[in-house]
Amino acid sequence: MAEPSMIVVRCKNCLGLNRVPLNRIESKPHCGQCKTALDVPHAPSYATPANIDREIAYWPETLLLVFTSTANLYCKIYDALAHDLAAERIGKLKVMMIDVDAEPYLAERYKVTTTPSFIVFRNGTMAIRLDGAPKDKNDFIKWVDNLMNYNSY
Ligand SMILES: [Zn+2]
Repeated sequence: MAEPSMIVVRCKNCLGLNRVPLNRIESKPHCGQCKTALDVPHAPSYATPANIDREIAYWPETLLLVFTSTANLYCKIYDALAHDLAAERIGKLKVMMIDVDAEPYLAERYKVTTTPSFIVFRNGTMAIRLDGAPKDKNDFIKWVDNLMNYNSY
């Protein structure tokens, strides 16, 4: 019998890493050490200056920051795509949105001058960025998947 694919989830309480079979995500898994319910994000969350460093540092897999602005049409497309990616790649990809109009400090900190822009982190370290709307939505999805499958650690 093939082993179900595993994801790694960090416990928010004790910070221990838990390996969870992907097919058990829906059954509300608990931390093996402290029994706290594990939180597996299946939708994008919103980054703020207060939470961003922790969220990036504690996520052991691939994290995608998406910088958007409300006035930009492309941002609406990539906002919807970010929600799809987070749901379809649950446990493997964490997506955080940053509205540059609401969070100018974060836009400045990451030197974002155009939207949408994307920054990918792997295991807490910045890996690559893409400034401006990708030409093709499918190329963008491939770009994300390639980064997720690249094992650098
Ligand atoms: Zn725990």
